[in-house]
Amino acid sequence: MSKKLPHDQIVKIKLGDSQLRQNLTVAMHTLQKNRLNVINAKFKNWQGLRDKAKKAKNNALMSLSDRLIEFEKNATANGIKVHWASSATDACEIIYELMRQNNIKKILKGKSMASEEIGLNHYLANKGLNAIETDLGELIIQLNDEAPVHIVVPAIHKNRNEIGKIFQEKLGADLENEPEKLNQIARKHLRDQFEGLEMGLSGVNFAMSKEGAFWLIENEGNGRMCTTAPQIHVALCGIEKVMESFEDAATMVHLLTPSATGQFIPTYNNIITAPRNEELDGPKEVHLILFDHHRSDMLAHHDYYEALRCIRCGACMNFCPVYDKIGGHSYQTIYPGPIGEVISPNIFGMEATGDILTFCSLCGRCSEVCPVRIPLADLIRKLRANKVGQGKNSPLSTQNGHKNRGEAFAMKQFANVATNGALWRFSLSKAHLFNKALHKFQNSIPVIKNWSKYKELPQIKKDLYKELENMEGVRYE
Ligand code: SF4
Repeated sequence: MSKKLPHDQIVKIKLGDSQLRQNLTVAMHTLQKNRLNVINAKFKNWQGLRDKAKKAKNNALMSLSDRLIEFEKNATANGIKVHWASSATDACEIIYELMRQNNIKKILKGKSMASEEIGLNHYLANKGLNAIETDLGELIIQLNDEAPVHIVVPAIHKNRNEIGKIFQEKLGADLENEPEKLNQIARKHLRDQFEGLEMGLSGVNFAMSKEGAFWLIENEGNGRMCTTAPQIHVALCGIEKVMESFEDAATMVHLLTPSATGQFIPTYNNIITAPRNEELDGPKEVHLILFDHHRSDMLAHHDYYEALRCIRCGACMNFCPVYDKIGGHSYQTIYPGPIGEVISPNIFGMEATGDILTFCSLCGRCSEVCPVRIPLADLIRKLRANKVGQGKNSPLSTQNGHKNRGEAFAMKQFANVATNGALWRFSLSKAHLFNKALHKFQNSIPVIKNWSKYKELPQIKKDLYKELENMEGVRYE
């Protein structure tokens, strides 16, 4: 990823890009509408399914060490070679070693956020090796040398005219903007790449410990090509993806596609149980890398473990009123949006990514739509407290997080006032005087100055306490 910009700068750039905002608005509203339509049309008890999924995922997480051992035992018995990686570098090295041992110079990849998280393409490029994306969205952004803008739809910030131009410039194709024509261009390009493919890489949606198998869903068929056409298939799997049984994983799949794209079921379900045996096709070797990368730190944390339930559906982004204005690149981390605000500081550290916590308005829409009921807004609020040194338990891996003493002091004073009835009533009654002073000096107080550059300061004209007391329907105690 290119060098990070201060986040107020990048937000300004993205807000000023009217084409980007238009593309995002159209795309996000379509995804929102599709989700609601499919839930209303096809599900009798969506809320019950969410509860079931939360329970199943929590059960798996609470017994994760047993699940992992069981998965390794059963997958190995099926002929899958299981590797363990504690860090991102470990995972990259395992893939590099497999390529080196087999004298392979190029791999083709199905969509995998895990591979983005470990920086695989970059790692292999530094070794002189090639990783080629085959998911259409991933291919577009790889050609354009960009990071994914969204965890499910990585090129959703581009419209078809822009994609046509990228294909013209990077692939030498005729300039097109019809989806069918654009698909044909990508298809032809990828077919040539698949020719003689020796190693394919994929992510994993769910691994099932009882069956020793794993499940990969996709819509384009490229995932199936990457997992069946080459001699060697390597799958990257975060440890939190391991569930107890096929039945539990099926519950998740029922929630995943409606939440992600508004489809009832995915176009391709790939359930991989073993390498080729007697069959005529399929890979001769299947390797699965279980990688941690600070997930066990999160699991040990009594708040942030909840984020490990995430099934990467992207719904929290699709409904986020901040994400749909600024897009995923503004977050400058591979996981954007509400879930990114929770897991990025936990995985990559508060120092590197903690600034994105201010992108949240705490409206709570993300928590409402999350199919596995992750209380995202609560977790973001807790991370903010950690960031200013007020949290009771800092996320692990973020010991060097930036502690803002001024903000911590201000929040403490606010908490003192807000939890004391007499002080709170007094403050409300005098808020109009404070508000008047703020208006007068707004251009000289640094924090207020930055804020009022973009928004108007609210006007409090009278005694707020009296107004609240007299408001119809309000019982103020
Ligand atoms: S946090 Fe919830 S809504 Fe967001 S990507 Fe994960 S599962 Fe989907």
